[in-house]
Amino acid sequence: MVDSLIDCDEGRRLGCRTFCCRLLVRLAEDEREPAMNGSVPKGFVDKGPDGLCVHLDRCTHRCGIWEKRPRVCREYDCNHDYLLQAAVRVGVTNIVQLAKDAQALRIAIENCIKVPGCAGDVD
Ligand code: SF4
Repeated sequence: MVDSLIDCDEGRRLGCRTFCCRLLVRLAEDEREPAMNGSVPKGFVDKGPDGLCVHLDRCTHRCGIWEKRPRVCREYDCNHDYLLQAAVRVGVTNIVQLAKDAQALRIAIENCIKVPGCAGDVD
């Protein structure tokens, strides 16, 4: 299984405010919990009323299931998401506002801020 090479601690220091944990987290078929009442298993991770993943610890801003987090969270690379560039500059209130901010900022590729890789990453 591919694991993220992004240093999420450094991303938080840069100000990403864990915007990735506001995105829709789809679950692969083998990751879905069997439904109790015989209905179709849920294909995504729930969000809290604040729009953040239910597994995100609101105090530490760390994933509460890091070792067992869904595949899409492991494979997601925020550095290829233009929303990260807006998030580290203007913060995140909600994903719709963030998309508007990103469009208005028009950040050139050469001005992108990169979240470094994890320790040991040769990048
Ligand atoms: S499962 Fe963990 S990494 Fe994935 S969105 Fe939720 S808190 Fe973030």
